[in-house]
Amino acid sequence: MNVHEYQGKEVLKKFGVQVPNGYVAFNADEAVQAAQSLGGNLWVVKAQIHAGGRGKAGGVKLAKSLDEVREFANELIGKVLVTHQTGPEGKEVKRLLIEEGCPIEKEYYIGVVIDRSSNSVVLMGSEEGGTEIEEVAEKTPEKIFKEVVDPAVGLLPFQANRLANRINIPKDKIREAVKFMLALYKAFVEKDCALAEINPLVTTTDGRVMALDAKLNFDSNALYRQKDIVALRDLDEEDAKEIEASKYDLSYIALDGNIGCMVNGAGLAMATMDIIKHYNGDPANFLDVGGGATAEKVTEAFKIILSDEKVKGIFVNIFGGIMKCDVIADGVIQAAKQVELDRPLVVRLEGTNVELGKKMLNESGLAIVAADSMADGAQKIVELVK
Ligand code: GDP
Ligand code: MN
Repeated sequence: MNVHEYQGKEVLKKFGVQVPNGYVAFNADEAVQAAQSLGGNLWVVKAQIHAGGRGKAGGVKLAKSLDEVREFANELIGKVLVTHQTGPEGKEVKRLLIEEGCPIEKEYYIGVVIDRSSNSVVLMGSEEGGTEIEEVAEKTPEKIFKEVVDPAVGLLPFQANRLANRINIPKDKIREAVKFMLALYKAFVEKDCALAEINPLVTTTDGRVMALDAKLNFDSNALYRQKDIVALRDLDEEDAKEIEASKYDLSYIALDGNIGCMVNGAGLAMATMDIIKHYNGDPANFLDVGGGATAEKVTEAFKIILSDEKVKGIFVNIFGGIMKCDVIADGVIQAAKQVELDRPLVVRLEGTNVELGKKMLNESGLAIVAADSMADGAQKIVELVK
């Protein structure tokens, strides 16, 4: 689960991670009020969306007067911001972060990630901050340094110290930087993060070390014990179809293609996507209806797929083990009755009660293309959506 930058900063602040003072604002009046409360004569007006790359896309503005704060707030609220992370459709800005401006000396990158190859939490750092870290990793990987954390003892001060030196934090700010990294690591572990990325971490000309940006991602399997984090969820930022699917406990992930997939079992769902790709098609979603799905659940899943305008055809690929083929057939028929099935539907059924399932579909009057195998089904649906 992702949160907004301002929320991430509030979480981090509680752990002693230094962040600029700031307030969230939902409109221009609130933005000006926030700037007044902050005082000073330089403010940053930042668009809050669940995507990075805002700086380059015009979503981060430096205001030198309260009038400018108002002007930038009016400009950004309601604007659809297109960054390299939002996709071409962009994201509408509904919240702003108003922060005290700070005199940046230099920008760095600090990230805490879970590294699968070492089965550990890894602290990463680079002196190439502010830019995209993926680009640094590709062009100058020698400028990224890592510290693997032993979970038994946590991040040790000497490791943070070594990293701070390697990324060339000025000598007089090393102590502050070490404190920063230790606090960030503590927040990461205690709040069950999957990712904590500070880009940029900055040193300022007035001697501070702080997070100018913060991207936190939380492990959804741990949300049951992070109630305060769940409260930060912003449904505006999530795919409506994914929210609907989560209500019915369906594993659904929206993708960019045009072939809707309804499959049972995560492995079969992955294999289905692969085989569609193999025949030069593009899946519109990953959907695992699970092993013990009811007809109602299947109906909802089918409706969610149909609600996606990108979907030009549907491929139902079921291997009935625990899941019975007649239950799937029942769900598909019920869904098709509730919403008009106006797109081609290819069904491949195999396993428990397969004959009954096929009979139900045949007698339903629905225009269904039957497939004998996965490969056959994939080829047929790819052909039909062309
Ligand atoms: P992102 O582009 O979505 O990652 O947004 P960031 O929060 O990282 O902001 C982008 C850039 O805006 C930063 O790299 C900074 O150069 C600049 N910026 C952000 N906050 C401040 C600030 O308080 N003062 C100054 N001078 N620049 C800032
Ligand atoms: Mn950033």
